Amino acid sequence: MTLPKKFLELFKGKIDEETLEKYSKDASLFKIKPEAVVFPKNVAQIKDLVRYVKKHRKYKMSITPRAGGTDMTGGPLSESVVMDMSNFAKIGKISDDKITIQTGAYYRDLDAKTQKKNLFLPSYPASREICTIGGMIANNSGGEKSLHYGKTINYVTELKVVLQDGEQYTVKKLSRKELDKKMKLRTFEGMLYKDIFKLVDNNYDLIKKSEPQVPKNSTGYNLWDVWDKTNFDLTKLFVGSQGTLGIIIEAELNLVPKPKATGLLIIFCPNLEEISDIVESVLSYRPSSFESFDNHTFKLAIKFFPEFLKLLGAKNIITLSTRFIPEFGYVLMHGIPKLTLLVEFEGADNEEIANHIKNVQEELKRYKVKTRIATSQKDIRKYWIIRRESFNLLRKKIKDKQTAPFIDDMCVPPERFSEYFPALIKILEKYNLLYTIAGHIGEGNFHVIPLMDLSDGKERKKIKIVSEKVYDLVLSLEGSISGEHNDGLIRGPYLEKMYGKEMTALFKQVKNIFDPKNIFNPGKKVQANMDYALKHIKRE
Ligand SMILES: Cc1cc2nc3c(=O)[nH]c(=O)nc-3n(C[C@H](O)[C@H](O)[C@H](O)COP(=O)(O)OP(=O)(O)OC[C@H]3O[C@@H](n4cnc5c(N)ncnc54)[C@H](O)[C@@H]3O)c2cc1C
Repeated sequence: MTLPKKFLELFKGKIDEETLEKYSKDASLFKIKPEAVVFPKNVAQIKDLVRYVKKHRKYKMSITPRAGGTDMTGGPLSESVVMDMSNFAKIGKISDDKITIQTGAYYRDLDAKTQKKNLFLPSYPASREICTIGGMIANNSGGEKSLHYGKTINYVTELKVVLQDGEQYTVKKLSRKELDKKMKLRTFEGMLYKDIFKLVDNNYDLIKKSEPQVPKNSTGYNLWDVWDKTNFDLTKLFVGSQGTLGIIIEAELNLVPKPKATGLLIIFCPNLEEISDIVESVLSYRPSSFESFDNHTFKLAIKFFPEFLKLLGAKNIITLSTRFIPEFGYVLMHGIPKLTLLVEFEGADNEEIANHIKNVQEELKRYKVKTRIATSQKDIRKYWIIRRESFNLLRKKIKDKQTAPFIDDMCVPPERFSEYFPALIKILEKYNLLYTIAGHIGEGNFHVIPLMDLSDGKERKKIKIVSEKVYDLVLSLEGSISGEHNDGLIRGPYLEKMYGKEMTALFKQVKNIFDPKNIFNPGKKVQANMDYALKHIKRE
């Protein structure tokens, strides 16, 4: 125990076993026990906490914010102090299609409020029922609607943050004149603006060139979005920063109108031979969402059929089971499809959507696929449940194995699929990995989740070897090693592989400018280390 007793008294840190055990895990591979968990009630307490931790560096204390705890990279885990953000859950009024919200608020609560005004925040992840706005911002989350609407970074217009000097600041887009005014301040804030501006302006070309050319990316710090020679916007750095630059207290977010009508086309692919062409054909019809799950996920849905029915709110199991007759029919006739694709369209009314979907269906006749149109909202919902809940069911239901998210989020340009899939599957098979693949096929963002016995040292050894092989493949195809889940402990060690030395050095400078004493979530992103990560894999 290195925490001073006074700290626990002042900040009412919890150190009982039950609390420490709970906060030692997220949805990642890791288990790291904190020394204490604090539950600040207001911004003044967060400021005091930051000042205290900074002042008492000899105790090597740090602060790691945590919200829903659904991170898949070890982002909210720490050996020191974990700061639970659940007391910051106020949701403000909606005005001009914008909302101000504290970051500990859950997405589901925001959604309940915005839906009443026919608005929504479209960058929600599959974990929408269990994650918070703070986690979505800190990871730059995305999900099934990102193909059409983009990721969380597109919706953040202003943030209130507590920085390493224990003060709260507002960051938002600034004009050159406003930036100059900030840079003249003789305070930490002034220095911050000056140093970051110098960094992005002096390295403008390198930074712009280094932006990953994929539809989705959550790695590194978003330096390429900060400065465009006209405007300067620090919100872009906080989005995706995983709590390593400061504590995000409140956000102003843009909302979008709910679509008037939607429709879903399901495509069953018996093999992957034509997949690149199929994806290109579908994308040319501009779907609002284009998702997929593989044969292993399909089998999982069959294996855990009663659980899926429960998630669908089953009152009458028999009636509900009849909703799956088309899928049972397909499997009986053709076997389990290698890939099931879900294509959603939005439009002004149901008739427009129905015509549009019929045109896509017609076009797909030239491929060896079967298609069906989901006919009702209930029918549509069952597909989304399979897509969204497969990872959660794996986590909870598989008895002798664990979900091992370490190659869980690669993003590869869709036109490279025909090279990507066979090579990826070859690696997974060479290392004898059981896995499911589900994800956002329209953006080339796939979640590959191996199932492993992590108490077995030989299995654990595969993690580093397979990560390196898969990331080499992804980078050779000009992809990103993380489309939405971020770096944390598991991908941070590969940032240099993805961006090269110079750009990684700039990321390190960013961390150093914001947090010179390294008090905010140390050891993540650019500071991550694979040996440390491998030592902290949970083995139960
Ligand atoms: C079943 C399942 C499905 C998922 N599907 C998706 C998906 O489709 N898309 C996707 O993007 N992700 C997905 N995820 C990952 C995860 O749910 C998201 O990244 C989510 O947004 C994290 O939110 P959270 O509230 O759980 O954050 P946490 O796990 O608590 O924290 C995430 C990171 O944010 C930091 N943080 C949290 N609050 C703050 C704050 N106030 N200030 C500064 N830093 C902060 C933490 O330190 C940590 O590094 C999934 C996870 C699960 C378990």
